[in-house]
Amino acid sequence: MSNRFKVASRVSAMKGSATLEAARKAAELRQSGIDVIDLTVGEPDFDTPEFIKDFAISELKAGRTKYTPSAGARKFVSSVASFFNDQFGADLSPNEVAASCGGKQALFNAVCTLINPGDEVLIPRPYWVTFPEIVTFAGGKSVFIDTDRSGFILTAEAVAESITERTRLLILNSPNNPSGRVIPPREIRRIVEICAEQNVFVLTDECYLFFVYPPAEVYTAAVLPPELRKFVCIAGSFSKTFAMTGWRIGFTIANAEWTRAMIKLQSHSATHPTSFVQYACADALANRLQMLESIESMLAEYRRRRDWLIPELNGITGFTCAMPEGAFYAFVDVRKLLSEKFPSAAAVSEYLLNNSHVMVTDGAAFGADGFLRFSYATSLENLRQAVDAIKHLFGTD
Ligand code: PLP
Repeated sequence: MSNRFKVASRVSAMKGSATLEAARKAAELRQSGIDVIDLTVGEPDFDTPEFIKDFAISELKAGRTKYTPSAGARKFVSSVASFFNDQFGADLSPNEVAASCGGKQALFNAVCTLINPGDEVLIPRPYWVTFPEIVTFAGGKSVFIDTDRSGFILTAEAVAESITERTRLLILNSPNNPSGRVIPPREIRRIVEICAEQNVFVLTDECYLFFVYPPAEVYTAAVLPPELRKFVCIAGSFSKTFAMTGWRIGFTIANAEWTRAMIKLQSHSATHPTSFVQYACADALANRLQMLESIESMLAEYRRRRDWLIPELNGITGFTCAMPEGAFYAFVDVRKLLSEKFPSAAAVSEYLLNNSHVMVTDGAAFGADGFLRFSYATSLENLRQAVDAIKHLFGTD
């Protein structure tokens, strides 16, 4: 009898994370002494705010080191609900909130508790790399909605055209990774209305919730009226807007029934995110003004970088980039460069790496051939160096 290890088909059908692979490659090049300018990173270059670290130390010292309920500590779920209620005028109760190990697990819990084999899941393209892989794991079928025509901003019409009898879920992500585009609040509401009419659920990834540059508006689906909100699950995260990627903490907001299913699933996997981290986040959320101040100062710096970077990129021959309203990514259209020399955007990114040591992510990883993603979660100094090197290679208009 053969005892050769064979990966379960559910998992072998999944692709590895292209963005984590790019980060690994950048680290490897740096280790081998090559001074790469890494614009692939999907994490803030800011440290976690000091006051959150202090809360974590106090909670750790106070002995918050044991299991919490799988839903998360009462203090955590209550403070998430209160934060949304106080900040946005939502009407959440703690039993609609569950803690998770980052936004990624929130998404995983939401998809795996809803999707049966064969169910169709609508995913606007370009998409964050993980969405289709979770759907594959759950046995669902990803059906992509191209948003190229509308500048990568999903419209209610496009959703209406894509719904079939088998559609069970739509995954939204605004502000968007990789495009940085933000769907206007009115459009989000129309999208949810159309889905609700057809009995389709909406999973909205709000990991970049606060990273929105005025005049675009911060918007959470938590403020939708109850008859719409019962179709919605929000995946939230402390990773990006609170600069806490390594702490692995996020949450879901969904109707109580969906929430209970997610807690049941989590009770047999991670159980819950780290206890003292939950308590520290609860303390931080209770200091809402301090939280908002720290977000504001990070956002001001991202905005400075964005306002410098996008016009510079648009000045490079063959590069076109729409102004992103949120997150910290620029999604650059390089289709004008495609030729025998550069048959794909991947060839452009390889050329950049080999000739200027600038590392960016190929848009194909996000389902958008002909595009490159530049992260500006790095210093203006690095961005200037990268842009100078690229200008040197491609010239300016
Ligand atoms: N959703 C989006 C759109 C992301 O870009 C990321 C991280 O890159 C995540 C979710 C997951 O973040 P985390 O699991 O660290 O909260």
